[in-house]
Amino acid sequence: MSETPKIKHFLRQIIEEDLAAGKFSEVVTRFPPEPNGYLHIGHAKSICLNFGLSQEYGGRTHLRFDDTNPTTEDMEFVQSIQNDVRWLGFDWQDHLYFASDYFEDLYQFAVKLIRDGKAYVDSCNLEEIRAMRGTVTEPGQPSPYRNRSVEENLDLFARMRAGEFADGAHVLRAKIDMASANMKMRDPLLYRIRHAHHYRSGDAWCIYPMYDFAHCLSDALESITHSICTLEFENNRDLYDWVIEHCDPPAKPKQFEFARLNINYTVMSKRKLMTLVKEKHVSGWDDPRMPTIAGMRRRGYPALAIRNFCEQIGVAKANSMVDFSQLEYCIRDVLNYEAPRAMAITRPLKLILETYREGQSESLEAALFPDEIGKPGTRKMSFSKTLYIEADDFMENPTKNFHRLVPGGEVRLKNAYTIKCERVEKDANGQITALICSHDPNTLGKAPEGRKVKGIIHWVDAQTAVPAEFRVYDRLFLDERPDTVGEFKDSLNPDSLVVLNGFVEASLAKVDAGSHFQFERQGYYFADPKDHSAKKLVFNRTVSLKDGFNKAASEEINTPAKVEEVQSVVKARTYEEVLATKAENQVPFFQTFHNDYGLSVDDADTLSATPELAQFYQTMLTSGAGRDAAAKWVVNELMRILKDIALAALPFDASKASALVQLLEKGTISSKIAKEILSEMVETGQDPNAILETKGLKQINDPQAIRALIEPLLQQNAEKVQAYRDGKDKLYGFFVGQAMKASGGKANPEILNQVLTAMLSAS
Ligand code: ATP
Ligand code: MG
Repeated sequence: MSETPKIKHFLRQIIEEDLAAGKFSEVVTRFPPEPNGYLHIGHAKSICLNFGLSQEYGGRTHLRFDDTNPTTEDMEFVQSIQNDVRWLGFDWQDHLYFASDYFEDLYQFAVKLIRDGKAYVDSCNLEEIRAMRGTVTEPGQPSPYRNRSVEENLDLFARMRAGEFADGAHVLRAKIDMASANMKMRDPLLYRIRHAHHYRSGDAWCIYPMYDFAHCLSDALESITHSICTLEFENNRDLYDWVIEHCDPPAKPKQFEFARLNINYTVMSKRKLMTLVKEKHVSGWDDPRMPTIAGMRRRGYPALAIRNFCEQIGVAKANSMVDFSQLEYCIRDVLNYEAPRAMAITRPLKLILETYREGQSESLEAALFPDEIGKPGTRKMSFSKTLYIEADDFMENPTKNFHRLVPGGEVRLKNAYTIKCERVEKDANGQITALICSHDPNTLGKAPEGRKVKGIIHWVDAQTAVPAEFRVYDRLFLDERPDTVGEFKDSLNPDSLVVLNGFVEASLAKVDAGSHFQFERQGYYFADPKDHSAKKLVFNRTVSLKDGFNKAASEEINTPAKVEEVQSVVKARTYEEVLATKAENQVPFFQTFHNDYGLSVDDADTLSATPELAQFYQTMLTSGAGRDAAAKWVVNELMRILKDIALAALPFDASKASALVQLLEKGTISSKIAKEILSEMVETGQDPNAILETKGLKQINDPQAIRALIEPLLQQNAEKVQAYRDGKDKLYGFFVGQAMKASGGKANPEILNQVLTAMLSAS
């Protein structure tokens, strides 16, 4: 399984420019968690970014605990954070630091500021300070203590440290500008008094530095070159630079901001996650439903999948919401390759083969991986008279599209025989207790001859199968944005965990905790690292096998694309002809695109023109766009743009291109709007969803709304309407054009046609 190809985002660009300009000889970044909770998937993005950049460009990344707040921090979190960073695949070597180790240095920097007249002790309380800060439109008022002498400030600050004053009696503030347009610059707090025990420094200190003072100086003390943080710190950058300028440490780090990761159907603030743990809505920080790294690890998410996800979502300057299915896509992508196949029955239904001899048993061989994975290995599966199948795979009164086992019907047992359901056995309450079936002995591992049997189901041998518990997880919240629905806990999904008791095939009797499997037709499962043992088998469902995206893609392939068929008749270049023209590094892409993805020869040709373009297209797919839709868009739209701008110079990456195509696929936008958004993206590099939001470009799909647009048009053009009704068919185009124009190009063309036709024919 390979890593996702790297896309050149703005931070990579900045670093390359800095290195080219000789500003730094190596890249030094840091990951600075506050040890007040477990890390979550948002932190994973920051970890992958910081460690990833120093790996790529040569350098190092420090793990620094940003532990300047004595009341919330804890050694348990220091441990868990280190575990999680290591597990994600990153190594800080001997660069493990604690901001609390810098307390003395920080104190000395503060003293320097006081000496230089750049800081003062303010004896107002926090409320007074807040009241005097002013607003965005009005300047603040200077504190009456602002002009204390250097001597008095030095004396008071020393006594603050010595513990002479109660909490809140004084603070140390920077002396900057009470009228600054940036509120952060209106004499911000640097130190506060807190008589609290610190988990590392104990009671050595009763004054603690504020984030804005401690963070930048910690960066400087460690010679960090690129201090990367999330967008909410954008306004703090001026202060960051001010502190560095006036404290004048030898190293001068710079701050850069990127958009934080948000994922739907979950919450990511440590405070909220802490609430879930404390109130026991989940079993702990590592509950497999939690968006924590510990939870995801326990659920069976591979570290590589999380890294790939963090690369695919890209690094941007605008906040956006990422779809949970994108993360799940990355997980399936890795596990498809990693997880051996096995059979498990989660809701058992007994099946007795009356044609199979009592006491007889066969050992059948099954592959560990399907052919397309190209990994060797087999396992033995026993087969005998009594089996278990999934209760869902049988329907006594089948619905129309049910192709599995039904009374009197046939089905194939995967890797074994074709069987037929002869009778159903029931208990006194009418509950089905067993299916009595017959088997066709000539069908071992192959389709029966002369008749078509559609369904294939999985099974286990009742004689040898091993009991197992299955923990089937679903999303923890019902709302897409649980944060915005009032009390976030009200959105908890009551069915986020369903425990089922069933069986797994005998080859799994002794598997270790922490092993991955694909239970065929069910999903990817992971032997729980805590509760699984040889005595009690426990499997967590990591992720189901299918999602909506795959369904949409396969439906699309089944609908014939008429226009393209005609075109290919005109051009009619054969696969062999084009293949002969391809360079060596284009061939594998060309073949994959045509043979595996089913693209036309011409499209496959265009998309494999360079390996970079081919990878761009593939990343669009891994980001969720459908094969055909993405191909069509690249060939028709992007190629037009690439006449003027080189691919590497595009201000947006493949995941954004993919997002645009997905908007098209979902029918959120028309192709005309997609063009508009694309040209905006070429200008600004913005996310298509953000452009859509700000410009209100959503497609109009509501027939009522379209009708309302058309009505006045028809009134204004009553003569033309009459002429049309009298047989001047050609006027139809005029009406479409006018209606489209009235909708600002936003009407869904299909619906517009339907509505317009109906309205014109009614008289
Ligand atoms: P939370 O809001 O969950 O408490 P935090 O930002 O307070 O998170 P820290 O421990 O201070 O947590 O974060 C450490 C680093 O991780 C910071 O550099 C922060 O910017 C980054 N980070 C936190 N949340 C996200 C996120 N959702 N996406 C990207 N980076 C994040
Ligand atoms: Mg924080």
